[in-house]
Amino acid sequence: IPVDPFDLVIFGGTGDLAQRKILPALFRRFCAGQWPDDAQIIGAARAEYTPDAFREVVAESLRSHAPAQSRNADALNTFLQRVDYVPLDALSDTAWDRLAAKLADDRVRAFYFSVGPQLFGQLAERIKHHDLATPKTRIVVEKPFGHDLESARALNATLAAHFSEGQIYRIDHYLGKETVQNLMAVRFGNMLFEPLWNSQYVDHIQITVAESVGIDGREEYYDRAGAMRDMMQNHLMQLLCLIAMEPPAKFDPDAVRDEKLKVIRALDPVEPHHIVRGQFDAGPSGAGYRDTVGNPRSTTESYVALRAHVSNWRWAGTPFYLRTGKRLIERSSVINVMFKDAPHSIFGADAGRHANVLSIRLQPNEGITLKVTIKEPGPGGMRLVDVPLDMSFAEALGSENQDPPDAYERLVMDVIRGNQTLFMRGDEVEAAWAWTDPIIAGWQARGDVPKPYDSGSTGPGDAELLMKRDGRRWQGIN
Ligand code: NAD
Repeated sequence: IPVDPFDLVIFGGTGDLAQRKILPALFRRFCAGQWPDDAQIIGAARAEYTPDAFREVVAESLRSHAPAQSRNADALNTFLQRVDYVPLDALSDTAWDRLAAKLADDRVRAFYFSVGPQLFGQLAERIKHHDLATPKTRIVVEKPFGHDLESARALNATLAAHFSEGQIYRIDHYLGKETVQNLMAVRFGNMLFEPLWNSQYVDHIQITVAESVGIDGREEYYDRAGAMRDMMQNHLMQLLCLIAMEPPAKFDPDAVRDEKLKVIRALDPVEPHHIVRGQFDAGPSGAGYRDTVGNPRSTTESYVALRAHVSNWRWAGTPFYLRTGKRLIERSSVINVMFKDAPHSIFGADAGRHANVLSIRLQPNEGITLKVTIKEPGPGGMRLVDVPLDMSFAEALGSENQDPPDAYERLVMDVIRGNQTLFMRGDEVEAAWAWTDPIIAGWQARGDVPKPYDSGSTGPGDAELLMKRDGRRWQGIN
């Protein structure tokens, strides 16, 4: 179903994110027939491109990042006709009238801030100052949303001075992932899981976001941020919220976000001995962190594992183990809901321990697997084995859907549709920082130095110990 007519201005339209993610996502939606006739994209950045030169750049990016769709030359050309460009400096007041002249008054008007966070406030102010905001205006803000609670509050206040909360779309692209939305469908669309979804039946939860890549190209930003700010405070926190939240009454933006906020507010402060920080050293997959960032004394973490507790009626006593890191042995994002053992084994001690595990794989191989225990086939007596009830989305949805849509496809279209369900609300972001800040402050106060781990390994050994001490072990990469 096509969305409403729109003008989408991408500040930073020449940058990496715009070229690699946002524009290819828009092109795929265009090819899928989701664009109305009167819709356009306007790139706005500092480079002095003509519209045609910008179109060339976009065409090149689409060929690399949406190769299948770009093979259709007609589609590519028609799309490019809908792309325009205005050279514009966010820090200056010139050229805004040229941008204004390209916008239609009656369309949805979205401004995507795909620039460094230091420009977010300036852009918001200038959009208002140059009278570019209409009632149908939305702004889209990329991560990082602040560096700590104080800066996030300041940024929220600046944006709030010019736009209402209903106009502000804070991106956490994890929420746009097909499997993440499926997590909600599985939880709240089936009778099967929800009655068991609590501390009585769930032993613990594991959330792993492992990356094999390092931080190439983002050294300066990353060395100031680290894994806690770059991944844990936003992406892993959002996943935890979706797993832990109460069923919202409706799949409606504020109903969902109210429930997520309650989860973040129910999080206990994390005990220092429940956190492991790591920093990658040289190893099979490349040079060490300190060489990469050119800072021989850096104590920034590229890995963090921790045990969190959601102190509420549903989850009291059920630990949530979260870990994320760079330069690990493989790229794998998975949530494992580890159910408790059956209370009594009628098959005797030889049958071993068999607990159900619900695995939600975000990448690669999006899908959901439920590990169940059955009888080992054959006449050899009552032996038990675990088998996966496997639902790979690619298989379940048929070959034409092999590639799940990119998160940005869903999110950008939701901006145009005006649906904020999959975007973070200001109070959520602040609550997440309020939980994160004391952890980072604790490291600073103690002069904590992250544990080294080899590039291409499974991470620091202490992360295994974190689990082992509790009589548990990580699933997946280990
Ligand atoms: P980039 O450096 O590749 O691009 C920055 C863009 O901003 C360029 O188009 C540049 O011309 C423009 N720009 C810079 N200063 C400007 C000014 N004064 N006025 C107008 N335009 C200006 O950066 P990026 O990687 O595309 O990242 C953009 C934003 O998205 C950042 O906030 C980043 O943290 C966030 N982000 C990026 C990624 C990614 O994969 N690249 C992922 C998540 C979030």
